Amino acid sequence: MTIGIWILGDQLSFHHPALQELTMERDQISIILIESMAYAQKRPYHRQKLVLVWSAMRHFARELGQEGWQVTYEIAPEFSSALTNWQQTYSITELWIMEPGDRPFIQFINQLNLTCSIHWLPNNLFLWKESEFTQWAQGRKRLLLEDFYREGRKRFNVLMKEGKPIGGQWNLDKQNRKPPKKGLISPPVLWFPPDPTTQGVITHVHNHFPHGYGEVDTFRWAVTRPQARRVLSHFLETHLPDFGPYQDAMVTGEDTLWHSLLSPYLNLGLLHPMEVIQAVQEEYNKRQLNLNSVEGFIRQILGWREYMRGLYMYETKRDPNYTQHNWFNHNQPLPHWFWTGITDLNCLHQTLEQIHRTGYAHHIQRLMLLSNFNLILGTSPQSVVDWFHAVFIDAYDWVMQTNVIGMGLFADGGLLASKPYAASANYINKMSNYCGGCVYNPKARTGEGACPFNFLYWDFLARHRQKLQSQGRLNLILSQLDRIPPEELAMMQKQSDAYRLNHLGLPNVVI
Ligand code: FAD
Ligand code: SF4
Repeated sequence: MTIGIWILGDQLSFHHPALQELTMERDQISIILIESMAYAQKRPYHRQKLVLVWSAMRHFARELGQEGWQVTYEIAPEFSSALTNWQQTYSITELWIMEPGDRPFIQFINQLNLTCSIHWLPNNLFLWKESEFTQWAQGRKRLLLEDFYREGRKRFNVLMKEGKPIGGQWNLDKQNRKPPKKGLISPPVLWFPPDPTTQGVITHVHNHFPHGYGEVDTFRWAVTRPQARRVLSHFLETHLPDFGPYQDAMVTGEDTLWHSLLSPYLNLGLLHPMEVIQAVQEEYNKRQLNLNSVEGFIRQILGWREYMRGLYMYETKRDPNYTQHNWFNHNQPLPHWFWTGITDLNCLHQTLEQIHRTGYAHHIQRLMLLSNFNLILGTSPQSVVDWFHAVFIDAYDWVMQTNVIGMGLFADGGLLASKPYAASANYINKMSNYCGGCVYNPKARTGEGACPFNFLYWDFLARHRQKLQSQGRLNLILSQLDRIPPEELAMMQKQSDAYRLNHLGLPNVVI
């Protein structure tokens, strides 16, 4: 039996289980990494995402070679022929693959009709194994993030002292919702000028995707593990101490605020979640940092990231139709200007322009602007997922589905979130400075100049009143809805209908 290892593009880790388990001499083991043009053309991607993944793969392959492994790197029209040629060249009879994070890719591999057998290895890029999450989830009435997070703190002994949470409380989120004060400026971000390998990939992407989505010449992301480690160190040094307070704020011209920008590297395997958590804990002990910032950050990785991934594996196994959920029966096409960023809604214009330029938006921009707008507008959840998949540098099926279908759009009817994250301009005006530079009035609900977030929000609540009532947690808001004079509500509903027709009735743009 001759074993070969296929390392996938988002598994760029020296702790890959195949590299750990095989005990033969390194130059006796064949490894392949493949860039498939057909796969890259299957759906639109931000061009910086293509550069990031391909450049990181090329760097990783080179590092493996320098460490003595026998590596084949294929830039191929598609996966199947590249695999077959390699199998024949090296007489490979068994192919070792770490389980992909994304379910569709597992199916894709199974349909490749390979002539050798596949040996699946467990995915070790997360803290919780799929079976452990299932064990935790089974028999629970609700799969609440807070319960899961507490279990994670205990299980991995993170921010714990003598079995209790350090500081006495599990969650300090209440201290982390400050609106931005005037002139708020965050520390500089660590970026990297593209090296010759990355420049080569940029040219390759330019040539093959001349009209693809997203600027590509502005690419400045890290592409190797040492660079990703430097981003982590820079974050610990300059951003972590104040990560908490303005976590939910949005500021014009401040793309990243105190956020870490680590998701692209965690999702590629260049960093492991546990090394990030340990580094943060060490920093906390060394520098006596504010607990609300440290706990707030750890909750993102130990809590949200693992929870979203666990739920994805759990729910899509129980119900392969999870990704098609559409609880509100929303069928509006995605506004065409989500691709161009040309809109007079300043909050969305600023955010869409930023994504086009960088492939990045922070959590509140994703949740309370992009998802929220599509939720209250009534956009089809699957077209929103497709758009998120296309425009973000860190997008993968495993992290997208539960975040967009579950958290952002409540399309799963509350399997994940206890209420929809719907909000009017009031929230955006409080948590950002976008409204000051906008043609719309965040306080007006009807008439010329009324902010679309307002009439769409009340229209959404009125349209789905019955369904929302069953959720229980929206009673206060629904009682506010009931106090709106019927004529005003009717005007908002009319204005919402007209808005959908006049502004959005164009065909969906597919790149
Ligand atoms: P920070 O604010 O610095 O947070 C630290 C880390 O915590 C992140 O790097 C990420 O790994 C993790 N994290 C925090 N929240 C989540 C979450 N809800 N799910 C998973 N990980 C989380 N994250 C992605 O990695 N890819 C996506 O495609 C993606 N799409 C999203 C879509 C929607 C609608 C929403 C609401 C969230 C989405 N997220 C996604 C989660 C989160 O917004 C991003 O992980 C985060 O903004 C990345 O920026 P950062 O590294 O600066 O994050
Ligand atoms: Fe966005 Fe409305 Fe504020 Fe304009 S007024 S920035 S559209 S919330």
